[in-house]
Amino acid sequence: MTRSTDVVVIGGGQAGLAAGYHLRRLGIEHVILDAQAAPGGAWQHTWDSLRLFSPAACSSLPGRLMPIQPGETYPDARHVVEYLADYEERYELPVQRGVWVDGVHRDGTHLRVESDAGDWRARAVVSATGTWTRPFIPAVPGRREFAGRQLHTVQYKSPAEFAGQRVVVVGGGNSGAQIAADLAHAGIDLTWVTQRPPRYLADDIDGRALFDHATARRRALHAGRTDTGGVASLGDIVAVPPVRAARDAGLLTAKPMFSRLTSVGVQWADGTVTEVDAVIWCTGFRPALAPFAALRLRGSRGHITTVGTRAADEPRLHLLGYGDWTGPASATLIGVGRPARDAAREISALLGP
Ligand code: FAD
Repeated sequence: MTRSTDVVVIGGGQAGLAAGYHLRRLGIEHVILDAQAAPGGAWQHTWDSLRLFSPAACSSLPGRLMPIQPGETYPDARHVVEYLADYEERYELPVQRGVWVDGVHRDGTHLRVESDAGDWRARAVVSATGTWTRPFIPAVPGRREFAGRQLHTVQYKSPAEFAGQRVVVVGGGNSGAQIAADLAHAGIDLTWVTQRPPRYLADDIDGRALFDHATARRRALHAGRTDTGGVASLGDIVAVPPVRAARDAGLLTAKPMFSRLTSVGVQWADGTVTEVDAVIWCTGFRPALAPFAALRLRGSRGHITTVGTRAADEPRLHLLGYGDWTGPASATLIGVGRPARDAAREISALLGP
């Protein structure tokens, strides 16, 4: 069965909902297809102790402030899921759940979106598929030899399952620091390794300041002034309270990356081996862009080349979320609103009166 609509949004996490909000405001007919059975996108699957790196009011999508979570300055993931569920209901966003999109193809003046629930013909497509479904683990020698457990950030839930074990956490970003702090606070035998010494942002910098920095950078570039550098220039780790507490208690001492895995553990540059039971790879994600393979769009490092949010080589495709390459802070709750608005406006112009 093939249905027709003006716009198909693929992905019903925060980026897809922000797109829906702005499309609805402009009166553009659309449908949001989401693989999950329930609202909340990736936030449904994160580890138990995860805290946002910005307060609720600074973690809001367009139109509706995230309410404060009682007793918490930095809300947990459950609170974000509830907020997103309420958001899509409040704005009556047309989300169809449990629908997996396999591929997007050119079809004359339209794009054809193929899914396990049938096909849609659309005049434009917004990709908001996120990165959570594409965890990345680097090719480290000996990975197949290691007899212990290996898992990625996406599989980590809580320290309870590592009681009595020796655990290596790999990664110097927010996930690595938060999971290392989680394990350290629980008294787990922890070795934290990072490619370069951990770079904490100043303690008073949270998501709001990061967003302001990204905005200032966008304005500077737009006005032809000197590039102030992306948010990465400020540091890699937001010192949320549990991370700060673990760091200040001396529980977060990072070692340089090991040179290989052996059957029993990790081997360091000097040849010594530390025996461990588990390695948790907090080594990031890649954009989930497999559905667009047939469009053969240019891009480096697994991205699609964009002009703003629009695919440079396919004017009917827009991308939201993922990273700064689709707009400053586009991969954050507070940051996705502006690129979503820009995408909806461009689509409106494309569709015409
Ligand atoms: P997702 O939430 O991943 O939503 C994408 C949706 O698309 C999912 O429901 C997925 O199932 C669906 N989908 C994917 N492929 C298909 C397909 N082919 N067909 C149909 N559906 C599909 N941001 C902040 O603002 N503050 C924070 O504190 C913060 N902390 C973070 C902590 C971690 C550990 C991580 C990983 C990210 C954090 N982020 C934070 C960044 C960002 O806000 C989240 O990653 C957020 O989930 C991104 O939203 P999204 O809508 O782009 O993607």
